[in-house]
Order: sequence, then C-alpha cells, then structure tokens
Amino acid sequence: MNRLLIAEDEARIAAFLEKGLRANGFTTTVAKNGHEAVAMARSDEFDLLILDLGLPGKDGWQVLEEVRGRGERLRIIVLTAQDEVEDTVKALEGGANDYVTKPFEFTELLARVRVQLRDAAIANRKSSRETTLQVGEIVLDLLTRQVWVHHQLVDLSVKEFALTEIFLRHPMQVMSREQLLNRVWGYDYDPGSNVVDAYVKQLRKKLGSEFIETIRGIGYRLRA
Ligand code: CA
Repeated sequence: MNRLLIAEDEARIAAFLEKGLRANGFTTTVAKNGHEAVAMARSDEFDLLILDLGLPGKDGWQVLEEVRGRGERLRIIVLTAQDEVEDTVKALEGGANDYVTKPFEFTELLARVRVQLRDAAIANRKSSRETTLQVGEIVLDLLTRQVWVHHQLVDLSVKEFALTEIFLRHPMQVMSREQLLNRVWGYDYDPGSNVVDAYVKQLRKKLGSEFIETIRGIGYRLRA
C-alpha cells in the first residue's frame, strides 16, 4: 500500500499535490507544520514523506533530523525552495532519499515518488521475503497485486486490494471503521463517511460473503 505524508504549509501546493497523487492511486495526508509532520511520520502509517523545507513550527531540517534520528524506514523526498546545491547536498546527507526543486512539474515528482516506493518495496521484500499473504482460502500476491479465492482469480480495484491486504495482515482481529478508513483512505477523510461499509459490501460480493464478519458498532473482522 502506498500511503504518502505531505508536509507542506502552502495550501495551494498541498492541494495540488494531493489531487495529483490521489488521481494516481496513492493515499495522502497533509501535515501543515513541522510538529504535525514529526508526529505523523512517527505513526508508522506512511511509506513516504514529501517534506517542504520551509515549514512553520519546526522547519523541514528539524523534521528531517528528528525523523531520521530514530532510523525510520520511511522514504523522504525533500522539496527545496530554490536551486541551491548546498541545500540539496545537506538534505541528502541529512537522510533524505531524494529531492525536487520548486517550482517543479508534477510528473517529475510522481516519477521520483514511484522510484522511492519501488526501491522500498524491493528492500522490504529482501528483508522479509514475503510475497504472498494467505488466510484460509484467500491468497494475495503482493508482487503481482493479484488475489485468489478458492484458486479463482478475483478482480479487485486498488482500494479493494488495499482493504483486503489489511484484513489478511490482521486475521481474527477486529478492525474499526476508523482504522480501515485511516489506512486505506487517509487521515483527513471524513470520519462520518460510510465508504468503508460500501467497500466491505463490495468485497463480500467479490470474495464471498463468509470471510468478513461485521462486529456491530465497531467494525469488521476477517474469519481465519
Ligand atoms: Ca513552505
């Protein structure tokens, strides 16, 4: 799953990034200042941080230092305000994985995001050797993004796949609507939204009605 944290105080730029990244299948959350960025980056809910260096509260340099100081596996792409070689070198030495100079073309940022996530996926796979998840009759291939139920290939959308992956990673565990909403759709999604219920209904149709159990008033659980 590709969950991106955007630390950017300029609303116009943050909105532009969110719109483009969501259109490309990513889940996005915006942190408007450095304090929020550090707290969210530590939540382990994100795969990549797009970090503007000029942030209020704590600036991007401080955020970079604090997040990297804890040795997070989070990928970081820094946005630098002007083409200052010194800044980019300093950012990379400080633990950023890549940088983009403002103003930038969205397609360039998108390409860099994809490279980072691909590298991270390869690194994770090497460390865990985990390429498939299986719970009972459901098998999910993380490499090919395919799902089989009773040995039949099932066609899932990006969000349906993400939701299935969460259930398979937490079999027999009650997952609240908020947890599912946060992990698949991002923190700033309307908590009153019934999108989770709609997607679970859809998944039951596609995977079979016996797998996902409703826990009244709380959320859902995958039967092992
Ligand atoms: Ca800024």
